[in-house]
Amino acid sequence: MSKITINELGKLQVPSNPTIPFIEGDGVGGEITPAMQQIVNAAVQKAYHGEKVIQWKEVLAGEKAYKTTDNWLPNETISAFEDYLVGIKGPLTTPIGGGIRSLNVALRQTLDLYVCLRPVRWFQGVSSPIKEPQKVDMHIFRENTEDIYAGIEWEAGTKEANKFYSFIKEEMNVDSVRFPESSAFGVKPVSKEGSKRLIRAACKYALEHNLPTVTLVHKGNIMKFTEGGFKKWGYELIEKEFAQELKDGKLVVNDCIADAFLQNTLLKPQDYSVIATLNLNGDYISDQLAAMVGGIGIAPGGNINYNTGHALFEATHGTAPDIAGENTVNPCSIILSANLMLDYMGWSKAAKLIVDALEYHFKKGYATHDLARFMPNGKSLSTSDFTEKIVQYIKTR
Ligand code: ATP
Repeated sequence: MSKITINELGKLQVPSNPTIPFIEGDGVGGEITPAMQQIVNAAVQKAYHGEKVIQWKEVLAGEKAYKTTDNWLPNETISAFEDYLVGIKGPLTTPIGGGIRSLNVALRQTLDLYVCLRPVRWFQGVSSPIKEPQKVDMHIFRENTEDIYAGIEWEAGTKEANKFYSFIKEEMNVDSVRFPESSAFGVKPVSKEGSKRLIRAACKYALEHNLPTVTLVHKGNIMKFTEGGFKKWGYELIEKEFAQELKDGKLVVNDCIADAFLQNTLLKPQDYSVIATLNLNGDYISDQLAAMVGGIGIAPGGNINYNTGHALFEATHGTAPDIAGENTVNPCSIILSANLMLDYMGWSKAAKLIVDALEYHFKKGYATHDLARFMPNGKSLSTSDFTEKIVQYIKTR
């Protein structure tokens, strides 16, 4: 089995037959993941004529893992992602009880996948609630390890909440909590190191992909030291590490307050390209932008640590239990995530074949029902028929 590695310059070394661990996923995972593999295999075969091939290695997580190993997230699964660096996953159920809040969060934290990358673009033919969706082409860099997502919070009325309040009142002279007896408390850690590594990754990505701007999105007018710190440290880093690129005009950086940003993305989406933001802002922004180009069924995502090379690409929607097993689910989120994965591996020729095939079919109105029902010339296909059409198209290129 061949492993992807990273060299001392931080460059990924990809063998011609890399092993890629994958988690099939719960609910609709059993339908979308095999569809994605068929399409990726066809594209890799077409692009490299057998000189490159992916060795898929299934690893367990979620319900499938729980049923066979009594463990929602077995150590072997985490080890596989640690060892093979690059992997992909379907959606996972949130375990009931058992101490794990979310399997997705556990995987991101264990592998320190500090970037959540969400590219958002529109495909011609796909219905959009905005007038000029062709102007949407954004790449969200959402910080993935800090902020209010650190899970440091205490329920109202508990001993811990009272203790926390006593501390901030007595030791920190805080007297602005309106209803202290019935308040819950949460802590929002935002670090210089965490902010800088995220913003650095966003700037490098913009330069590598010739993208026009990087926008730091924050709420620093209200949260001066956390969100404001993110912006301040961002500009410091850019002036220090990208001075030449700034001077040459290769890198253009600006910033925007989060609420204005959400408005602006609707009013003038063409003004934004790469977006670097904190965890919670990134969550809201990702969903709004996804809705602007066709919804969660086609929004791809990857969780990446650019220093270690670890990357886990994923379907961004949930397990969709209401439609699982019906052969109607839209497999495009995980397909486009695989596309991101191929690009990350440097297999861009295969990635392009996949995007071209999707573009061609959406333009003609071929899509799964969730998209086709809103297309003027929509033709609803089952998951397997849609997959088959894409595979055949790639084979005949
Ligand atoms: P979970 O609890 O795992 O988050 P959920 O059903 O609550 O699952 P989603 O999976 O995000 O949340 O689904 C929200 C709605 O969108 C559901 O009605 C679902 O059927 C639909 N949906 C989600 N993903 C897709 C998809 N890929 N194709 C078609 N419909 C989808």
